[in-house]
Amino acid sequence: MATCLLCGMPMVFQFKVRDHLRPEMETEYEVELCRACRYARVVGEFTADQVASFYTSGYHTHEETDAPAKPTLWLDRLLFHLAWRRDRGLDLAANEVPRTKEHPALCDVGCGAGLMMAKFKQAGYQVVGIEPDAAARAIASKNGEVLEGTAETSPVALGGRQFDVVLLSHVLEHCIDLVSALRSVKRLLAADGTAILEVPNNGSVAAEMLGPEWFFADIPRHLHFFTEGSLRAALGMAGLRVTRTLYTGYARQFSPEWLEGQQRIRASIGTEGWNRNAWELLARTAFSGAPGKYDSVRVHAVHEDAGA
Ligand SMILES: [Zn+2]
Repeated sequence: MATCLLCGMPMVFQFKVRDHLRPEMETEYEVELCRACRYARVVGEFTADQVASFYTSGYHTHEETDAPAKPTLWLDRLLFHLAWRRDRGLDLAANEVPRTKEHPALCDVGCGAGLMMAKFKQAGYQVVGIEPDAAARAIASKNGEVLEGTAETSPVALGGRQFDVVLLSHVLEHCIDLVSALRSVKRLLAADGTAILEVPNNGSVAAEMLGPEWFFADIPRHLHFFTEGSLRAALGMAGLRVTRTLYTGYARQFSPEWLEGQQRIRASIGTEGWNRNAWELLARTAFSGAPGKYDSVRVHAVHEDAGA
């Protein structure tokens, strides 16, 4: 068994799962976990072509909007309402970053259809996007310059440009090469800039209860899984220091869209042995601390020697 990329401790087998979006494929993906720092990953080395093939059917985050379904049964509505009442999560907002100039420059790495670009542009930022998917780039380019590239491979056209804010929102977990993706974040970040990275929270109770059926497991599109601690360790390895941690995404875990999504995964690949009781999830999380409660964790990070 391999050792952890982040802390050097042994990785242990967690589970095996097939791709729920391509149930006809026989390939099983194995997830291994570091018990010390809680970093987990899909075992194996993947090529860019293989990874591209993971996105060929049913993958929808590149669409412009994703209208949530309306709750129907009163019990479902009650579940969602109770969760909503307990939701103190903080979605990424443009004013979250202290501003040092009137029009700061932001690079949205893996900008998708550009929803975040639009939000920051409206707040006065000069925004540039990087996105591998051509259809998504076409939509995102309404909000500013969008270049072809990935987190690991910055577009040549950027030259040595650096940004006040470098944003990776639900991107790092998709990267083939974690180390080079983080090095590239560091290169893009101005000396006094702030990197913002949001990833699924693998320390959440939902991740623990649902394993491969967890909405944000989405294996093999997601290849890396972090807790706040392992995200901090990964950034530290790249010479970036975490200055702030925020959690987001509580009530949505009880929304019909989320619960139906998880049911579809189960129907598609028939995983066994996981606790799917949404009421139990609510009971275990409604009054618990943020690290177990929210489905996503977001950190702000700066160069390790910044402001020292
Ligand atoms: Zn580790």
